[in-house]
Amino acid sequence: MPIPSGSMTSAPGRAAELDVPALNAELDEMEEGIGSDIEAATARAGRLIETSTALGCAEAYWRAVLLRADLTERQGDLAGAAAAVQEVRRWAAEQGSRRLLSRAHRLLGRIARNTGDLAGSLDHMLKCVAAFSADTPPSERISALIGLADSFADIGSMPAARDQFERAYRTAAELGLLERQLTALNNYAYSEYEAGEPHRAHEVLQRLQALAARHGRPLDAAELDTIARVHLDLGNLLEAEAAADEAVARFAQDGMMEADSQASYMLTSGMVRHRRGDLESAQHALNESEALCREHGLGLLLAEVMGEQAALYATLGQFEKAYHRQCEAQAAERRQSSADREAQIRHAQVLYEVADVRQQAESFRDEARRDALTGLRNRRFIDERLPELLIRQVPAGSPLVVALLDLDHFKRINDTFSHQAGDAVLSTVAGLLVQVPLGATGFAARLGGEEFLLVLTDSSVPEAIMKLEDLRQRVAAHDWTAVTGDVPVTISIGVTAASAGSTVVGLLAHADSALYGAKAAGRNRVHVEENLDITERRNRRMPLAPKGDPA
Ligand code: GH3
Ligand code: MG
Ligand code: MG
Repeated sequence: MPIPSGSMTSAPGRAAELDVPALNAELDEMEEGIGSDIEAATARAGRLIETSTALGCAEAYWRAVLLRADLTERQGDLAGAAAAVQEVRRWAAEQGSRRLLSRAHRLLGRIARNTGDLAGSLDHMLKCVAAFSADTPPSERISALIGLADSFADIGSMPAARDQFERAYRTAAELGLLERQLTALNNYAYSEYEAGEPHRAHEVLQRLQALAARHGRPLDAAELDTIARVHLDLGNLLEAEAAADEAVARFAQDGMMEADSQASYMLTSGMVRHRRGDLESAQHALNESEALCREHGLGLLLAEVMGEQAALYATLGQFEKAYHRQCEAQAAERRQSSADREAQIRHAQVLYEVADVRQQAESFRDEARRDALTGLRNRRFIDERLPELLIRQVPAGSPLVVALLDLDHFKRINDTFSHQAGDAVLSTVAGLLVQVPLGATGFAARLGGEEFLLVLTDSSVPEAIMKLEDLRQRVAAHDWTAVTGDVPVTISIGVTAASAGSTVVGLLAHADSALYGAKAAGRNRVHVEENLDITERRNRRMPLAPKGDPA
C-alpha cells in the first residue's frame, strides 16, 4: 500500500463512513468544482483523505491529497501546496495514472505562474495536456486548454494563446458548458489586456457579456475585474470604477477566500481610484494588495503593485519614494523577463509538442462529434457536415443520397430482454452500417434512440438503393440468437436524394416520410421518396422485395 503511514489522520481500521463508490463519487464531485467555501472544502478534503486511508484506496487517497493541495494553494500557501503536489505527481508517474498526473501538472502550472515562474508554468501546462487520457472529463480538458492558453499569453505568444482560447471556447460551447465558455472568454480578454490590446480585449468582453446576459448569469468578481481593467485602459473611468467596485463587493458577498484574486481586485481598485483622483483611497487599496502579495508570495502581482505604487507616489509629488519603488518594480520585472526568455527558448523546444496538443484538441473535437454507444457520428456532426456536403455535391452534379433507418419494433426487444440487450443490438447494427460503402465524404450517424442516418456521396440513387437493400438484408439475416433469441431484428429505411434547391431540413423531412411509408407498408423494407426524379429507377425497377413484417 503506497499510502505513507505518516499521513494517516485517523486510526487504521476505523470504520469508514463511505464505501468505495461513494468515496469516488465525492472525489469526482469535488474535482468538478471545489465551490466557494474554501474552509468547508478543506475540511471535506481532509475527511476524504481519512476515508481513503481507512478503505486502503491509494488512488483515492492521492486524489484527495491533490484536492487539499489545491485548496492550500488557494489560501496562499504556495510552497506547502507545491510540496504536496510533487508527491502526488511522483506517485501518479510511478503508477501510470495519467488523469492524476495531468491534474498534478495543472496545479503545478498554476503555482509556478503565481510565483512568477512562467517558463515552469508553460512546461507544466504542456505536460498536463499531454497526459490527457480517454477518461479525462470534457470540463477538465477545457480547463486545461484554458490554462495552456494563459501560459502562452504569459510568455507573450499571443497567436498561440488566441488559438487555444478559441479552441477551448468552441469546445465548451459544443458541450454546452456555460461556465467554461465564460472562463475562456474572461481569460482571453484579460490576456489581450495584458498584451496591450485593450480594443481586442473589449471585443472579447462584449462576447462574454452577451453570453452571460443571454443565460441570465450575473457576472462574477473575476469577470468584473477584467472589465474594470479594460475600461481603465480605454479611458472609460466611470465604467471602470463601477466594475471595480462591483468586483470587490461581489468578492466579499461570495465569501471567496482566494488570496491572489483578492490582491488583484484591490490592485484594480487602487488603479481606478488613482486615475479618478481619489489618491487616499487608492493608497489604501494598494496597501492591502501589497500586503496580500507579500503574505502569499505572489511575485507576479507584486511587481505590478509596486509599479502602480511608484506611479501613485509620483502623482503625490513624492518623487524620491517614487524613484525607489520604480527601481524595485523594475528589478522584479527583470527577474520576470529572464524567466520569460527562458520560456521563449523552451517554447521553441516544445513546438512539436504543441502539434501534439493540437492533435489532442482535434481528436477531442472528433470525440464530441461521435455517439458514445455506437462510435458513429452524432447529431452535431450531421448538423455541421450535411449543409457543407449539400453545397459541395449538388452544384458539382455529384450525388448525395440520404437514408433514414429505424429499427423495427425495437421497443419489444428492450421490453422482452433488457435495455442492455437493446444497446447490444444498436451497436451491432452500427457495425453493419459502417460496412456500407458510403463514398469518400459519406458517413453513418446515429440520430438518437434507434434511428440512424446514412449519407452516400459516391453512389447514384439506384446504386445507393441497392446498397441499402443489401444492408437491410444483412441486418435481417444476421445471427441475432445470442442477443435476442428467436426475436428477429429488422430495419426500415427511407431514402431521398439531393437536387438543386434541396435544403437539409427538406432532405431529412423527405427521408422521414419515405421511412414512414416503409413502416406503414409492413416494415423491413427500403422505401424511396415518392417524388424523387430518378430516370434509372423508372426504367429499371429496383428489387425492393420486402420480406414482410415479422411482427
Ligand atoms: P417501430 O417499428 O414503429 O419503429 O417501433 P419501435 O418499437 O422501434 O419504435 P418506438 O419509437 O416506439 O420505440 C423505440 C424504443 O427505442 C423506445 C426506447 O425504449 C428505445 N430506445 C431509445 N434509445 C435507446 C437506447 O439508447 N438504448 C436502448 N436499449 N433502447 C433505446
Ligand atoms: Mg423503431
Ligand atoms: Mg424510432
